[in-house]
Amino acid sequence: MHELSIAMNIVEIAEEEAKQRGVEVSAVYLKLGPLSGVVKDALISAYEMAVCGTSLEGSRLVVEEVPVVVFCPRCREKRSPRSFQWLCCPECDTPAPEVVQGAELQITALEVKDET
Ligand SMILES: [Zn+2]
Repeated sequence: MHELSIAMNIVEIAEEEAKQRGVEVSAVYLKLGPLSGVVKDALISAYEMAVCGTSLEGSRLVVEEVPVVVFCPRCREKRSPRSFQWLCCPECDTPAPEVVQGAELQITALEVKDET
C-alpha cells in the first residue's frame, strides 16, 4: 500500500524531530496537494496504523488539502484548472503544464504536548 509507506515516512520524520526537541507530538500537520497522488482518507488511516508502537501513538494527522494552481503561459496568470488530470487554463484552454501548487506532500508543523 502506497499510503502506508508514506505514512511511515511521516512518522519517522516527526519522531526524529520530537526526539531532537525533547517533546512529545500530539498532532502532525501536513499539506497535501491532489497531484501528489496520495488520497487523504487513505493516508489518515495509514497513519493510524503507522504510529502503532511508536512514540507518536495516539497522535493525529491533520491534513490540509491545497488546490491545484497552474501558470498559464498565454494569460501569464496563475489559474486553477478545472481538472487536475488535464492541466489547462480555464480561461483560454491553453495547456498549462507548469504547476505552481498542488503537488505538496509536506509536513508543515508539529503540535506538541504540554509539559504540565
Ligand atoms: Zn490562459
